[in-house]
Amino acid sequence: PLPTAPAAARLFSGTRGEAEAAGGDGAMLRHLARKLRASGPVTVAEYMREALTNPGQGYYTRRGGVGESGDFITSPEISQVFGELIGIWYISEWMAMGKPNTFQLVELGPGRGTLTEDILRVFKQLASVLSKCDVSVHLVEVSPKLSEIQAVMLTGGKVQPNPEDESAYMKGISKTGIPIFWYRDIQDVPPGYSFYLAHEFFDALPIHKFQRTEKGWREVLVDIDPEVPDRLRFVLSPSRTPATQNFIQPEETREHVEVCPEAGVIVQRLASRIERDGGAALVADYGHDGTKTDTFRGFRNHKLHDVLSAPGTADLTADVDFSYLRKMAQGKTATLGPIKQREFLKNMGIDLRLQVLLQNSGDTATREQLLHSYDMLMNPEKMGDCFNFFALLPHHRLVHPDKKDKPESKSPLPPVAGFNELLLK
Ligand code: SAH
Repeated sequence: PLPTAPAAARLFSGTRGEAEAAGGDGAMLRHLARKLRASGPVTVAEYMREALTNPGQGYYTRRGGVGESGDFITSPEISQVFGELIGIWYISEWMAMGKPNTFQLVELGPGRGTLTEDILRVFKQLASVLSKCDVSVHLVEVSPKLSEIQAVMLTGGKVQPNPEDESAYMKGISKTGIPIFWYRDIQDVPPGYSFYLAHEFFDALPIHKFQRTEKGWREVLVDIDPEVPDRLRFVLSPSRTPATQNFIQPEETREHVEVCPEAGVIVQRLASRIERDGGAALVADYGHDGTKTDTFRGFRNHKLHDVLSAPGTADLTADVDFSYLRKMAQGKTATLGPIKQREFLKNMGIDLRLQVLLQNSGDTATREQLLHSYDMLMNPEKMGDCFNFFALLPHHRLVHPDKKDKPESKSPLPPVAGFNELLLK
């Protein structure tokens, strides 16, 4: 059981502006310890936000260690096939929605830019299908460090910072000739028909944690350990907090609950934009459907890392609650999934793609690499089961508007790729 914070403890919400450009290792811990001593414990969400995206010392701001040499590896970094199949998903939805003559591809948290690179390669290969369609890419990225890496990957580094006529903080042209824009917030992305993508993005957003006690729900807070200098510990709020009142459902049966309000807000924004301007969103992440409890964890050098030690030097993450995302989208758009990654990729034709790549590769090392990466993505014990795909689609994409009146009058809608079994004609 966690200790309770002193009753006088105030809940403070630090501002991002207080970044304080403290340098060197341990700087983030000292910065947090100072704040905690001055103003009392903070919510886990506040702690996570500071540790990950503090403009001076945050993990993503400084490092953002995606990839083999970093702290965690993601599917697009494992195999090009992953991004290719996602590229095909967008083209398939673009066709099913009547081939609009323009669309924006909007990626949230693009990491190293690998996924967009693989998607743009597919768009180029299928240029004859996409012909006359005006495509642009819009990346939402808070990390200056990662946006630099993305710029090199996607444009060869030829970018213009702070373009005057745009809401973007940077723009450039992809190697395949497509305009790319960078933003800090989804709200800066111009309106328009858009396909959204969020791969391992929602798991990086700050969560609140709640614990059921004999006295009712209490929020888990981060405090300074009174026994050991500059060590952090978890405590429980002495009473209910605004978050316990707003985010715990009366029918909740779990003992411990994590809620990510920021994910809810972003999904609502995506759903509103899709409802207004058309398009679709594909969300892929590890997560559950409102059943799991304590999933908050840290990663450093591909190993689990204590979330409270050396903040700013490790990735902090929590499982995505897809039931919460579904609830937030409700009314505005339809949702599909979550469906397991191995099922989604199988439905997208990963087996066929693997066969073609194996046939085309001459040397054993490449073939082994292909089989190894397929296993990483698909094996239920590896990424196949814990990663899920989830989509937001306009209502009319799944149900004919007049279906209720005349069920037989229309031809069936084309199935949504990935979420239905692949049928080879
Ligand atoms: N999609 C990539 C990277 C995942 S890591 C991949 O799968 O490889 C999470 C990404 O989200 C990073 O690019 C990080 O900088 C970005 N990010 C984290 N919090 C963010 C926020 N609040 N707004 C925008 N981007 C954010």
